[in-house]
Amino acid sequence: MVGGGIAGLAAAWELACAGRGAVTVFEPGRIGGKIRTSTFSDRPVDEGPDAFLVRTPEATDLCAEIGLDDLVAPSAGRTLLWTGGRLRRLPDGLVLGAPGRLAPVVRSGLLGPLGLARAALDLVLPATPPDGDVSVGQLVAGRFGRQVATRLVEPLLGGIHAAALEELSAELTAPQLLAAARRHRSLLLGLRAQAAAAGPPAGPIFLAPAGGTGRLVERLEKALRRAGVGFSPEEVTAVRAGPPGEGGEPVEVTTASGRHRFGAAVVAVPAPVAGRLLGPDGPDDLGRIPFTSVAVLTVALPDGSWTPPAGFNGFLVPHDEHRLVTACSFFSSKWPAIAGPGRPIVRLSAGHSQDRRVDTLSDEELTARLLGELQQAIGQQVAPVETRLSRWPAAFPLYRPGHGALVERIGQELAACSSRLVLAGASYGGAGIPACIRSGRAAARQLLTA
Ligand SMILES: Cc1cc2nc3c(=O)[nH]c(=O)nc-3n(C[C@H](O)[C@H](O)[C@H](O)COP(=O)(O)OP(=O)(O)OC[C@H]3O[C@@H](n4cnc5c(N)ncnc54)[C@H](O)[C@@H]3O)c2cc1C
Repeated sequence: MVGGGIAGLAAAWELACAGRGAVTVFEPGRIGGKIRTSTFSDRPVDEGPDAFLVRTPEATDLCAEIGLDDLVAPSAGRTLLWTGGRLRRLPDGLVLGAPGRLAPVVRSGLLGPLGLARAALDLVLPATPPDGDVSVGQLVAGRFGRQVATRLVEPLLGGIHAAALEELSAELTAPQLLAAARRHRSLLLGLRAQAAAAGPPAGPIFLAPAGGTGRLVERLEKALRRAGVGFSPEEVTAVRAGPPGEGGEPVEVTTASGRHRFGAAVVAVPAPVAGRLLGPDGPDDLGRIPFTSVAVLTVALPDGSWTPPAGFNGFLVPHDEHRLVTACSFFSSKWPAIAGPGRPIVRLSAGHSQDRRVDTLSDEELTARLLGELQQAIGQQVAPVETRLSRWPAAFPLYRPGHGALVERIGQELAACSSRLVLAGASYGGAGIPACIRSGRAAARQLLTA
């Protein structure tokens, strides 16, 4: 296994469960990759992801398999939008920001009269079923107009992926919207029909281990070690399909200590790194997946100095507000079971494919500017008792329209080079923790059948 992020660990777990041969995970950095929980203001506070979706079962299944059963849900808070200098409530009935009902959007006051009129046109426009993959921007603006795209969908979906809607593949990042647009004449009516068929959510939408997402990695690492999986802190510098027959082991992994031969390897590092490791014989297209850097500023405020708006878990910021902050989570009210009582803690996110300031600003500048924007958003001065800046360079893969076809091509090129090498991780089929677990386990299963 090359890379000990959640995708690599999940692949190792799949192989360990199958009991097939010795497994080694090469991870020169922190085990868990982008999943990192560390102590902040005497509490465990996540530096990267703080929860996983439960709509797909991969993360909850893995937790159950490794005996991690103390999962907690965020408090049932709503989301605000920081726009026009005010924090306003996002309307009900949105699906990834797209409206399934118009009345709540009208009441929210987030769209102007022209924007509302254009959104309502969706109900009467002829069907425009997208042919193949399109951008989320094209899909949403085509049905509802620009205002819905920029004020509702972009803050949510663009915030999740740190990207503009025009750069996001609808197939990968908004499959619900694409399915509704293909099956129904009106996108709004399609989303409404989807919601009616699905019924109200049976349980929480997100969960996290009590003590932070880092607990998932700790438990998984322990379970892997118990199952005999080895961990090497060496950085891998090359992965090659060796000449067939030589030494019986067809894959060669190079580190500073030499060349190590294995029966097969899962390469679970970001695509550009995988491209470098696989060298000129590997798929050319690995270097064509772009990445965006993000940063998270965690801030603890003095006890009682500020109370987050009751019933809200944070705010999102539309990109056309030209702020540095893209989202703010009221950590202490969102995760009372993790944060405990007392001092308010917030997490501010920054970084966007069309705003590269995270790459250029110093730690001091980033911190000062984000704090300044927090003050403006909440309308009061803040005097933090502690701050922590977590930088994630080139962290978010940009899933451009056609990403699925690109990934398929990469897979075919690699398969033509060796059936004993498989790729896994956030670069390919989705960045969420469940998608990365799915990708790692699927890669391991592919090797087991090969
Ligand atoms: C700030 C932030 C917030 C997020 N929030 C959420 C969230 O709330 N919910 C959610 O589901 N997802 C969230 N995500 C996304 C999710 O955390 C990641 O997509 C996922 O953890 C990536 O896992 P991975 O295994 O693919 O890659 P990584 O975690 O990047 O792991 C790759 C590993 O490969 C190692 N590596 C690199 N080069 C080499 C080499 N040469 N040799 C050996 N090893 C190497 C690296 O050290 C790293 O540990 C968030 C991500 C970030 C950055």
